Amino acid sequence: MSGEFAGLTAVVTGGASGIGLATALAFADRGARVAVLDLNPEGLDERLTGFVADVSDRASVDAAIAQVGEAFGGIDIVVNNAGISAVGTVEETPDEDWARVLDINVTGMARVTAAALPFLRESSSAAVVNLCSIAALNGLPQRALYAASKGAVLALTYAMATDHVREGVRVNCVSPGTVSTPFVDRMLQGFADPAAERAALDARQATGRMVTPEEVAGAILYLASPASGSTTGTALEVDGGVTHLRVRQA
Ligand code: NAD
Repeated sequence: MSGEFAGLTAVVTGGASGIGLATALAFADRGARVAVLDLNPEGLDERLTGFVADVSDRASVDAAIAQVGEAFGGIDIVVNNAGISAVGTVEETPDEDWARVLDINVTGMARVTAAALPFLRESSSAAVVNLCSIAALNGLPQRALYAASKGAVLALTYAMATDHVREGVRVNCVSPGTVSTPFVDRMLQGFADPAAERAALDARQATGRMVTPEEVAGAILYLASPASGSTTGTALEVDGGVTHLRVRQA
């Protein structure tokens, strides 16, 4: 294999759909061996190897990471991408949802990274990239639980980057704006008028359109690249300008 990631093994959680799938394919295009950890990793491109894993279950994560390490002889890159949406204010969000979403979106990243660290420490190009969101730093309507989960991802990214920098493991995150994936399609079903909400999501971006999964994948590969050796503890926005730009409405 040739390419920037030749000889490296990348693990992508939630790599069977959306941003994770685009990221897994981009790694394969650039020469990496790619392990997709997902609840149901079937029907994948032949360049991707699927491993069944539920990031909310430590035994499942430990088993899958051990299988990847054995199959590929190590792990160099972890993309903590698996995550789920939540719509609602605090009044509308029951305790069971708080427990489930934080378990998957936050603790899931800790479980996968902890399981992979023994392999990452052995790599000379070790990198972790977490999927954060603009919801971590922008007050979006009806995203109380989801925003709290991504705020925790941002804090976790800085904490993990600090803990592991001297071990040669870089940790960064990407903060996408709204990305056109099945995740958004499902989330829109939670609104009274999904078409109007979709139009509002497009309009919210300074660019006037949602981000594509491939655009997020490009940012993830930049952060994961061995060429980015001095980049750790950063959050890279891929958000169509929504966080920092204030454009005049047409
Ligand atoms: P998606 O729903 O298209 O894909 C998510 C994948 O994660 C699926 O393949 C699903 O099976 C898998 N998954 C879910 N729960 C899992 C679990 N417990 N264990 C293992 N795998 C699990 O979603 P997406 O839009 O590609 O989002 C991916 C990530 O990007 C999420 O962390 C999400 O919060 C984040 N993100 C998405 C957007 C967006 O607008 N789509 C914006 C910002 C951040």
